[in-house]
Amino acid sequence: MRPRSLYGLCDDRRWDAERKDLRHAASRRDESTDTGRAWVLGGKEMIETEFAIVGAGPAGLSAAFEAGRAGTRTLMIDENQAPGGQLFKQIHKFFGSKEHWAGTRGIDIGKKLLEETEKAGVNVMLDTVVWGIFDDGKTLAIKHQGSVGRVHAQKVLLATGASENALSFPGWTLPGVLGAGAAQTLVNLHRVLPGTKVLMVGSGNVGLIVAYQLLQAGAKVVAVVEALPEIGGYGVHASKIRRMGVPILVRHTIKEVSGDKKVERATITQIDDQWGPILGTEREFDVDTICIAVGLHPLAELAWIAGCEFDYIAELGGHVPFHNKNMETTVAGLYVAGDAAGIGEATAAMEEGRLVGVDVARCLGYLSDQEAESLMGEVRSRIESIRSGPFGEMLRQAKNKLMERGNECKSHFLKQAF
Ligand SMILES: Cc1cc2nc3c(=O)[nH]c(=O)nc-3n(C[C@H](O)[C@H](O)[C@H](O)COP(=O)(O)OP(=O)(O)OC[C@H]3O[C@@H](n4cnc5c(N)ncnc54)[C@H](O)[C@@H]3O)c2cc1C
Repeated sequence: MRPRSLYGLCDDRRWDAERKDLRHAASRRDESTDTGRAWVLGGKEMIETEFAIVGAGPAGLSAAFEAGRAGTRTLMIDENQAPGGQLFKQIHKFFGSKEHWAGTRGIDIGKKLLEETEKAGVNVMLDTVVWGIFDDGKTLAIKHQGSVGRVHAQKVLLATGASENALSFPGWTLPGVLGAGAAQTLVNLHRVLPGTKVLMVGSGNVGLIVAYQLLQAGAKVVAVVEALPEIGGYGVHASKIRRMGVPILVRHTIKEVSGDKKVERATITQIDDQWGPILGTEREFDVDTICIAVGLHPLAELAWIAGCEFDYIAELGGHVPFHNKNMETTVAGLYVAGDAAGIGEATAAMEEGRLVGVDVARCLGYLSDQEAESLMGEVRSRIESIRSGPFGEMLRQAKNKLMERGNECKSHFLKQAF
């Protein structure tokens, strides 16, 4: 098995040259020292690197950049054919302050991060799934185009992002019912409309943004329904779709979907304070697509397998691995960042990734304690400012809760100073 999807394809000449020397420094990267190319068939050998990152979204890319530019031999792995994670689906402009990329489209942030990462000498292995983690979180089992192999690293970051929550109702398995994130991938990445008449369930930012992007792509959005008494996402996103004639119906939910082998109709209903349907308030829509946007949960299975300890924190999307202020989990040397460490935004994911990259570079001797502390201080103050304001404050408190409970977790406390 060979790493065909590093930034460039790996040909046989390079393949022969690659095994000699895996030493690496960002400042003197050359073809013969690419970590990813030490990949050998048969499971007898494995790829050795100092720092392995699972997931090339904003969190993974930012960690790779910080660690790579300090000189850490870094390998980033992603199951997709292109790096960037969610960013390459985000064609809208980000909010917040200038230092957090406000006014820049997610897709352009992704391109910039990629350039920086490449300059920092990071190796990227794409089209490769990490399906297992062993040896106290130090060895990853990987699969690339039907072949399997292993990666061994001194430090590992799980930056695997999030998964969409499902919602069950009569007819929910009919073709035409899909996650809003899946619809966004179809429209913005593959340029395929999932349908022409859409009902959106959920009015958080994901529901509102994807509804708008479906409208832009030529679909009709018949309504957005929201079970809560108020809209979940930013007012600016809600106003945009309202201006385009889409009603946002709060205290409503989907009752059922019907059709012959695919979605043809949806029935919605108003709900009472106990979330029970109010009889006589049903409305029917002719639609071919139902998008479900009822939240995300951290994609942290690899952390479970590695033996990390978890807590359930609803504001962070459900079960989240404990982590300390440098994002290290209860398994020493294994880190989490971004949505895998609690659902947030790309801006926070990037900063958490940076914290990991700096901490790893420090632990491996590429940065002094002083250099690392100064870089981390800057990152932490940016995280503070992201986590202020009505939405951010809730996240800040949830993260504090996670770290406090981590402190109380006895086995964790014994393993490392939190
Ligand atoms: C519709 C929508 C709109 C958004 N708008 C904004 C916005 O305006 N501003 C903002 O800041 N944020 C926004 N976000 C949120 C933002 O996109 C995420 O918070 C951010 O992408 C999380 O980054 P991440 O690196 O943690 O994960 P991701 O970007 O999800 O990247 C994780 C990567 O890991 C890969 N991966 C997972 N498991 C494995 C495995 N086992 N092996 C190999 N690879 C694996 C995934 O395929 C993916 O490429 C939006 C999200 C959505 C869905």
